[in-house]
Amino acid sequence: MTKKVLVLGEMREGSLRNVSFEAISAGKQIANGGEVIAVLVGEKIDGQGKEMIQFGADRVLTVEAEKLKHYTSDGYSQALLKIIEQENPEGIVFGHTALGKDLSPKIASKLNIGLISDITAIEEKDGDIVFTRPIFSGKAFEKKKMVESTIFVTIRPNNIEPLSKDETKTGEIQSVSVEIKDLRTIIKEVVKKASEGVDLSEAKVIIAGGRGVKSTEGFEPLQELADVLGGAVGASRGACDADYCDYSLQIGQTGKVVTPDLYIACGISGAIQHLAGMSNSKVIVAINKDPEANIFNVADYGIVGDLFEVVPLLTEEFRRIKA
Ligand code: FAD
Repeated sequence: MTKKVLVLGEMREGSLRNVSFEAISAGKQIANGGEVIAVLVGEKIDGQGKEMIQFGADRVLTVEAEKLKHYTSDGYSQALLKIIEQENPEGIVFGHTALGKDLSPKIASKLNIGLISDITAIEEKDGDIVFTRPIFSGKAFEKKKMVESTIFVTIRPNNIEPLSKDETKTGEIQSVSVEIKDLRTIIKEVVKKASEGVDLSEAKVIIAGGRGVKSTEGFEPLQELADVLGGAVGASRGACDADYCDYSLQIGQTGKVVTPDLYIACGISGAIQHLAGMSNSKVIVAINKDPEANIFNVADYGIVGDLFEVVPLLTEEFRRIKA
């Protein structure tokens, strides 16, 4: 059966986040040949609608208002609920990002429907759409299907392949006027803490440092390797607790959950709480002095050695290959 599916496009500083394109791809699978409508919400939306079409959306709806300049669950839910009422979709897809995690339960409860969050795969089985999601901090996976008429899911970034961009594809981009009532939360200013560079939650390559990095300066060789590979630097809580780096870099159960193509763990022991945030990475390389370190149990490639010797050698070699 075909379905009409609504997909939320997420923007950061005017640019669409990758998870938006992954959501279109997920939306296509759920729609099963039906229409995929992308929704963009913000103060000013420009070429992003066109990009959503080029990545596979059939139609784009935009909601623009000054009160939507910054994300608030209050403002965004007013915009989304109006569109959902207007379009009556049979499927809704958000990214399982900070924004999606905050907004999706609110929308689900307002619509009085269920939500399957943090999905990593979609398949069709005996006519049902079945969703896979990690449970118990990534130690197991469960498969779920929605018994309600509306399917609502959030997708974990970096797991569902986006469709390839077709620059010749065109489609309707329609502006929807929504009267945003007074917001209960007003964002006066956004103070950026994280450093510039690749967004950790969407990075394809992550070089993560643990307590074994030993100091703030110890992260410098990791940053150099990340720069050569076009990746981002992450950390264990051990490194954050020791004040070697900012908590915004923390990966794990109480930090960010990441699924890059390549995860290089440097001086990280591999505590279960850390594995919860990275064990689904496609290729894991561990560098640790201790051959018994637990991180080697999840690693595809293990290097027993001093990270301060191994990491610069890797950087040099990748630089040579790329030259
Ligand atoms: P350590 O365990 O101290 O390991 C350091 C490693 O570095 C060792 O294996 C050592 O052999 C190696 N090493 C030392 N020097 C070198 C060198 N020169 N070269 C190579 N290797 C070297 N942790 C997280 O990471 N993320 C979380 O989200 C998280 N959430 C938690 C939630 C709760 C409720 C609790 C209780 C804990 C949580 N933790 C989390 C903490 C977790 O249990 C571990 O304490 C932490 O992950 C350890 O960090 P680490 O591996 O960097 O440090």
